[in-house]
Order: sequence, then C-alpha cells, then structure tokens
Amino acid sequence: MKRILPLLIIVLFLSGCGVPKEYSGVSTKMGTVVTMHIYMSGEDITPKVDALLEKLETEELSRKISTSEIGRANANAGKAEVFPLSEPLLEDLKILQQLSEDSGGAFDCTIGPLSDLWNMDELATKDPASLSREVIPTKEEIENALQRVGYDRLVLRENGIVLSEGMVLDLGAAGKGIAGDRVVALLKKENVDAAVISIGGSVVTYGTKPDKSPWQVAITDPFGEKEYAGILTLVGTHFVSTSGDYERFIEVDGVRYHHILDPHTGYPVTNGLKSVTIVCDSGILSDALSTACFVIGEEEGIKLAEKYGAEALFIKEDGSVIMTDGMQAIYKEY
Ligand code: ADP
Ligand code: MG
Repeated sequence: MKRILPLLIIVLFLSGCGVPKEYSGVSTKMGTVVTMHIYMSGEDITPKVDALLEKLETEELSRKISTSEIGRANANAGKAEVFPLSEPLLEDLKILQQLSEDSGGAFDCTIGPLSDLWNMDELATKDPASLSREVIPTKEEIENALQRVGYDRLVLRENGIVLSEGMVLDLGAAGKGIAGDRVVALLKKENVDAAVISIGGSVVTYGTKPDKSPWQVAITDPFGEKEYAGILTLVGTHFVSTSGDYERFIEVDGVRYHHILDPHTGYPVTNGLKSVTIVCDSGILSDALSTACFVIGEEEGIKLAEKYGAEALFIKEDGSVIMTDGMQAIYKEY
C-alpha cells in the first residue's frame, strides 16, 4: 500500500491534470498596449481580461465617453443633486481623495479642465512640425481652468458624488492602476496560478511562475538611450507603475510640455525629474502615487511613498537615480 500512493500521484501528474499552460495575448485597451502572460490549468482567460478592460474603460472610467459613469458624472456637474456612482468606483474615488490630501493637492483627479485645455493626448499624436506656440494655452486660459480644479471641492457621499459647475473628473492618472486591481480580482476568481500583465506604464505580477523563477519587470529608460533603465526582480503579487515626462509630450520653441500637470500652477511639472516608478500592493495606489510623486519631487515623494508602504524610484534629468531603501533590494540598473 505504501508504494501505491506515490505512484498514483505520479500518474495523475503525467496525465496533465493540474499542469498549468501559458496563455499570451496582446491588445490595445484604455488607449494603450496591453500584454499578458497567464499561467493556469483551465481554459484561456485572456479574452476575459480584454473584455474586463474594455468594460472598465467604456462603462466606468473614460471621461471621453459620454455614457461612462465618469462621462455622465461630468455632464451632470453643477446640478446640485448627488450623482450616483457604482460602489467600486466610489471606493476608488475615496482612495484618490485621500491621496490628494496626503500629497497636498499634487495629485488631483479634478484636473479635467486643465487636461482638456492642454489637450496633450491629442497634440502628442500630431506631427511635431505642425505645432506652433498657438497650441500652448494662455495664462488667462490656465487661470480660468484652475478655478474649476480642486479635489477639496469634490463632494463624496454615501452613494455618489457632487460636482459643482464646470468641474471635470479625470482618472487618467489612476485608471490603469484601477484596471490592475480589477484584473487581479478576476485572476483570483479564475484560479490563475500566475500572471504578468502590463497595461501601458502599469504592470501587475501575480503569483509564482510554474518554474518558480522571480518576475523581472523592465523600467523604461526615460532618456530613450538604453534598452531599459533597469530591472525590478519581484516575487509574488505586485503592482508597478511608472510616470514620466516622455510618455505624452510636445516640444514648442525648444521647450518640452508633457502630460503631468502641477494642479497648483496649471503647467506641466518642471522639477528636474524624468520618471518615477512605484512598486506596491495596490494597483490604484501604484499608479496614482507615481503621478503624485512625480509632481512633488523626490524628497517629499519618498516620504509619501513610505507613508503608503510603497517603494519608489526617481530618475532625474541629470541621470542620477534616487530610491527608497526597499527599492535598493529589488532594482538593478541596466
Ligand atoms: P500615464 O497615463 O501616461 O501612465 P500618469 O499615470 O502619470 O501617466 O497620468 C497622467 C494623466 O493623468 C494625464 O494625462 C492627465 O489626464 C492626468 N493628470 C495630469 N496631471 C495630474 C495630476 N497632477 N493629478 C492627477 N491627474 C493628473
Ligand atoms: Mg499614474
């Protein structure tokens, strides 16, 4: 009897029962490239991940889609009554509101009037030669938009929000992280063994690969000179997010204008940083913190990251790299 049991286990193993397969996929979702590698023994769920991202973008987050929750909330700004939101979205807004407070307003998801004014999403796709000084907003326009920006004026109620006239929510700085959280919930539900999924500048590592090797996540070189700036070696589930001045920008008269805005001045942040990478155990926070830390700079940024139990890496214009202690253990320069 003693011999039979191990044999039985070996036979079950060889027959393929429980042996994970690797499924891969590439698609365009949330305005960016999504790549997936999923290890599991069941059916391929990459189409389910795609469907989830599509639904999240079109039904909840996009401010450019008038029928999404955010689109409809924005269209209802100025109407005194509470605009109802789904519970997960409301929870996410609470987290972002708290981060706005903790970052002294450096992170602000009511930045919509300014993002609309700068229109960087569209300008960055245009032929650089076609851009002249006229595309840069005037001081007056910026001042006008600033009057409609302010996280402290976003009222969160039990089942919804109140936006005053002219306010515009923009979840661009946290959307891919929110997507990461939702994807991980799906991976758990589907009994996935392990996965690595990247949604633009946000990456999720989940579980442990069948060969037990750690995850390796490359950090983009913000100068565009090397294949990548460095590599993160991660074990288990993590959320990695990078914000940089190289992602969406234009150059006019030799000046670079990029898509991360300082909610206090209304202008793109200029503080000597090229990029910020955050590693933490929450998708929404990794994404939002990378933006927040980019705005407040390395000194305050390290404190903010530590407050949230996150690791942070700052790459500066002069090429120097500054990081939290925990980051030193997982980051290797390329
Ligand atoms: P990406 O979307 O390229 O990964 P980020 O996560 O840093 O980069 O988000 C930048 C986007 O967030 C901008 O395109 C804009 O919509 C919005 N945004 C810009 N500045 C801020 C800010 N200070 N706080 C919150 N959102 C911002
Ligand atoms: Mg972000």
